[in-house]
Amino acid sequence: MTDPETLSVTIVDGYVDEPAHFGVPPYISTYPRYAAGALVDAGVPREQITYHTIDGLREETNRWRDVDEADLMIYLGGMTVPGKYVGGTPAEPDEVRKLAWTANGTSLMGGPVKFGVGEENAGATETERQDLDFDFVAKGDVEAAVYDLVESGLEGFNNRMRDIDEVSRWAQEGAFVVEQHPNHPDHLIAELETSRGCAYRCSFCTEPLYGNPEFRPPPSVVGEVDALSDRGVTHFRIGRQADILAYGGDGEAPNPDALRQLYGGIRDVAPDLETLHLDNMNPITIVEWPEKSREGIRIIAEHNTPGDTAAFGLESADPVVQEENNLNVSAEECFEAVRIVNEEGGWRPGEDHADGPTFGDDAPRRLPKLLPGINLLHGLKGEREETYERNLDFLNRVYDEGYMLRRINIRQVMSFAGTEMSETGAEIAREHKKLFKRYKRQVREEIDNPMLARVAPPGTVLPNVHLEYHQDGTTFGRQLGTYPLLVGIPGERELGRTIDVAVVDHGYRSVTGVPYPLDLNAASMDELTAIPGIGSSTAGDIVVNRPYDSVADADLGTAVDLEGVATAGALEPGGAD
Ligand code: SF4
Repeated sequence: MTDPETLSVTIVDGYVDEPAHFGVPPYISTYPRYAAGALVDAGVPREQITYHTIDGLREETNRWRDVDEADLMIYLGGMTVPGKYVGGTPAEPDEVRKLAWTANGTSLMGGPVKFGVGEENAGATETERQDLDFDFVAKGDVEAAVYDLVESGLEGFNNRMRDIDEVSRWAQEGAFVVEQHPNHPDHLIAELETSRGCAYRCSFCTEPLYGNPEFRPPPSVVGEVDALSDRGVTHFRIGRQADILAYGGDGEAPNPDALRQLYGGIRDVAPDLETLHLDNMNPITIVEWPEKSREGIRIIAEHNTPGDTAAFGLESADPVVQEENNLNVSAEECFEAVRIVNEEGGWRPGEDHADGPTFGDDAPRRLPKLLPGINLLHGLKGEREETYERNLDFLNRVYDEGYMLRRINIRQVMSFAGTEMSETGAEIAREHKKLFKRYKRQVREEIDNPMLARVAPPGTVLPNVHLEYHQDGTTFGRQLGTYPLLVGIPGERELGRTIDVAVVDHGYRSVTGVPYPLDLNAASMDELTAIPGIGSSTAGDIVVNRPYDSVADADLGTAVDLEGVATAGALEPGGAD
């Protein structure tokens, strides 16, 4: 019998990406936090719990010693939607195997990895679960397995799900583990769970494998935010649920009171939070309960931070595909939901809430509070050439009728044992690969680009853009939050820092920005020429004629209104070259 007080435990985070749960840095998923809380609840002292991310292990080989020497090594991971990631690289199956071989103590694997492991993290693949040489695989909730395993003296556990009391306790008690995340404290966003499971049964999705939705009551989530906030977390995303609007209701209809308690409670315990975003809103909820949904969306938009996105899983605008895959929303219904979110959440800070959606010259230069995003999925049963046209028609209609989408996400299916798609496999996705490529380009060029100009017009200020990487003489960064805009800033700036940026131009999926406010007395040639209308000769003139007392003093020779973007700051010594 192993005494919990003497146990040393290492948790390794291989990252997760589920339909309604994200945990690739800068996100931290719920799994390591809950697992750590379960350990503490079972009697393991906090100081004997070590947490590493897979990237942390890659960077510092010494850290593998913690894997080797721990009495219990817990691996958490699994991707059930395909994706490419900037903030971290999910564990590869070979690395997961190496973890099991390296661990001298007991090894346990859990998380969505229980649904299957692909050879690589890409679409159009079929997956099956492998045990990858671990002593134990949690086929229920890994946090429950952790608790029961420690209680049993590392003998074993029955696969089970945890209950609401347990998750409330473990979520709070495990909050300390965030301090060991390499991104802590400034560049870390905690994914929050409000419910699991789904009332619907889409063919490709792993979420129904959790059953019907079960909600965590507001005090459970708010208590966790309080604990995370005490540990220095200021960025939060309420992303672990199938539908935020259904929160605290009967499983389908909205309950605005519960949303008010949730959002109001979070603001009360974390008044200094910097990000409060969400993920996943089911458009069918809005269509079926429009008034309650409007109220819910208003509550969210009053409490969240700008740039928030409600991702709608339309998946396909083709009725044939909708029918064959049990998709629960039609293109028409989804359009209605897009309209309602625009009307209730499309306002920008500094203007009347009733004015939304706003864009164009008169709109305040901040991102809208809450906009819809559209997820489209290809390779589904019944897909045909016309499916691609229908999807394009839908997106064009949203633009033409004056609404905004914050992002359009196009993916191809992965099929998992246990979902209906496992029969169709990835065959259709493979057949349509060429068509898919052409269509994707069309969406980027014809819709994404003008839509982005509408959502974030020149002059839009994006506070706290975190500088992530250099490419071709440009620095790229993003704000923390749900589906943040990728921002390219001219020149190679120091990475890891955070700066405020003003948008000056648009690509398909990214914007060009300059540091905000741009000081005309110090701006580089690259920064000046990034502004449309300023060529190199105008930029040269601006530099030569420095210093300026005010922006109006400089002859910018451009139609772009720089008011609100540029300043003429006091000259730093040596700044007039
Ligand atoms: S509505 Fe469909 S896609 Fe969304 S979580 Fe439920 S089953 Fe999955």
